[in-house]
Amino acid sequence: MSVAIQMTAKDLYHRLRNIRVGGSVCQYSLKKCEELIPVVNEILRLKAEKNAVILVHSYVTPEIVYGVADFVGDSYKLSKDAINTSAKVIVFVAVRFMGETAKILNPDKEVLVPAREQGCTLADCVTAADVRRMREKYPDHTFVCYVNTTAEVKAECDVCVTSANVYKIVEAIPNDKIYFLPDKFMGINLVNEMSRRGIDKTIHFWSGSCYVHEEYTREQIFKIRSEYPEAKIISHPECNADVVANSDFVGGTEQMLDYMRKSPARQFLMLTECGLSSRLQSEFPDKELVGSCTLCKYMKSNALEDIRRVLTSPRPAERVEIAEGVRVRAQKSLEAMFRYAQGEVPAVVRACE
Ligand code: SF4
Repeated sequence: MSVAIQMTAKDLYHRLRNIRVGGSVCQYSLKKCEELIPVVNEILRLKAEKNAVILVHSYVTPEIVYGVADFVGDSYKLSKDAINTSAKVIVFVAVRFMGETAKILNPDKEVLVPAREQGCTLADCVTAADVRRMREKYPDHTFVCYVNTTAEVKAECDVCVTSANVYKIVEAIPNDKIYFLPDKFMGINLVNEMSRRGIDKTIHFWSGSCYVHEEYTREQIFKIRSEYPEAKIISHPECNADVVANSDFVGGTEQMLDYMRKSPARQFLMLTECGLSSRLQSEFPDKELVGSCTLCKYMKSNALEDIRRVLTSPRPAERVEIAEGVRVRAQKSLEAMFRYAQGEVPAVVRACE
């Protein structure tokens, strides 16, 4: 058993004091940190006792990100962290499909997802039966699924992608016919980006969307540009094509943070979930956030009390279980992604074979 590291309320307040987004949900006083610190330290003690690791998506509330996380990041970074961990238990503080990704890659570990709202508008908009139907309609296409999909859907596809590597992987796939799912905005952005790169591929895509990212409009960008002409506009590929076309940088959440880290600019508008704005305010206090952001109810349904409870008595719905046949086929999609991301071109394995 490893020794539990404990935290003081002042330590926690030091990490959270600059955060000013999302109304009272994500604003912190020393008094609020004094109220949070008993449950934070109980989780840190239980984590050491149970040999658990806590993986936290950047969109989750800041007291979890800065209080109890071992690893923080986007779905791609966290899925790599999940592979490398030697812990017996993985607590995945995000949404259900991300916990499933950890379980696909770590079948012998216990994976627990404490989110009260286990959905995601993207992951819930397409089923394995839908993919099988599309495969019959487009039999000569390579099926590419965004990581925001269930294990059953990944199992029906050839290769998985994230927002950070979708363009690189689709460009590298040795087939000029692609079916992308489930996000229609990423699909349109993918078509536009391949055209910009001079890559000639026929790309069909599914009709889903993320309710957080679909809210943003180019009018918001024009307003911010008129009020803050020096501000850099950063958006996520799940935003619509007008927003993407009018942004200074487009990328996955880790790429956005990296852009801000390296940029000499001082002001940023971040067109993604508020969690990333919180990370900007906590980790880059010399940079200023302008405009507003949007909360994801699924990501924000994670609470410290539930993380403590799953470490002692998880409910059946909080344990991730995947049928072995589905897991093995979904793993092929993820492993194809890892190989493409390293510059290899794996043999495309039809998941339904
Ligand atoms: S922000 Fe929320 S709804 Fe949108 S893709 Fe992420 S988890 Fe799903």
